[in-house]
Amino acid sequence: MLLENKVALITGAARGIGKAIALQFAAEGCDIAFTDLVIDEQATGTRREIEAYGVLCNAYQGDASDFETAHATVDKVLADFGHIDILVNNAGITKDTLLMRMTEQQWDAVLNVNLKSAFNFMHAVTPVMLRQRSGSIVSMSSIVGLNGNAGQANYAASKAGIIALTKSAAKELGGRGIRVNAIAPGFILTDMTAALPEATLQEFVKLIPMRRGGTPEEVAKVALFLASDLASYISGQVIQVNGAMG
Ligand code: NAD
Repeated sequence: MLLENKVALITGAARGIGKAIALQFAAEGCDIAFTDLVIDEQATGTRREIEAYGVLCNAYQGDASDFETAHATVDKVLADFGHIDILVNNAGITKDTLLMRMTEQQWDAVLNVNLKSAFNFMHAVTPVMLRQRSGSIVSMSSIVGLNGNAGQANYAASKAGIIALTKSAAKELGGRGIRVNAIAPGFILTDMTAALPEATLQEFVKLIPMRRGGTPEEVAKVALFLASDLASYISGQVIQVNGAMG
């Protein structure tokens, strides 16, 4: 059991990559606190799947991009679980369009949900981890945060921001036993990518040397590695999970 007696807080984990991470961690004995915009039937189902591993799980409703909500959530998780060992900044959205057509709202929404949320939760969790003198923070970047992408200027900028935030926090917190890393997935098969037109999907797959999209589980395994002591001397890094794309 790689994460026995640990508590992980994962944002946006009712479905997709966040859910896969929660299940992967639970399978390794980790108690799970996860957030999502709404705690609906799907989120409750996710909670039940996590609990089936015999670990504790609570789901918290909240918008990760809201500073006060993030702090209040961390307070509740601490009250419920007593400690927080792992933070996974996973909540994310896309609002794709060409730069010239992009509205201020589309820019702000994506930057707030994808980047500010990570700041919010790191800001709230870091004092807890400093007291514990240990912790692991993993944030979800993207291949487009490294390479850019036409039609995704807001999303790419937010994901590049995650990388700079990760590297800066790793430098600030390294001396206190806290590791901070990011994962940059390529094309992963989730609701986010299912929203793309079939033709765009096929075009994407052609660009992937491994000729397929990745699964949420393939990203979750890397999150498990980074969160666990297997990665005890790894901090400030961005691990790409992309089937050799890019
Ligand atoms: P998804 O849309 O399947 O799931 C995202 C989850 O985040 C949903 O449950 C959603 O309700 C939640 N969420 C959205 N806004 C939120 C908010 N403001 N507060 C709290 N929760 C919120 O997406 P996914 O594909 O699982 O993506 C997860 C992360 O991985 C995102 O950060 C995404 O940018 C990143 N990523 C995904 C891919 C991909 O190909 N799917 C590639 C690279 C990076």
